[in-house]
Amino acid sequence: MSDQSYEIKDLKRRLLAASSCVVSLCPDQFFDVLRGDDFSNPWLWQAALVDAVVAAAQPDQRGRAACPLCRSRTKDTNTGDPVGFTVPEGLAMHLRGSHRAHQCTVVKVVFERHRDRMNDA
Ligand SMILES: [Zn+2]
Repeated sequence: MSDQSYEIKDLKRRLLAASSCVVSLCPDQFFDVLRGDDFSNPWLWQAALVDAVVAAAQPDQRGRAACPLCRSRTKDTNTGDPVGFTVPEGLAMHLRGSHRAHQCTVVKVVFERHRDRMNDA
């Protein structure tokens, strides 16, 4: 095995360990959907994840909540102060990375992990 292929294999191993750690740090209620046994259609998987996370969000009096997966918030457009995402629309955009929203890092990591597994299968 060449040094380069050994290095790639080692990096893949480390990436898998890091992504496993990300999943393990998420709330238990999302474990099954994050693990996603059926990843034959990644968009269906992502839709199921978005539905589960939005349903679990606990919005404040203004209808806003931090992301239950990564705990991030967005900024108030007037004050720049951190505020939760509007539920459900803003949170769903964050989870999907749609409408110019920064995608949830947890969703990104887990999506890539599933995609890598599909490619290796
Ligand atoms: Zn998030």
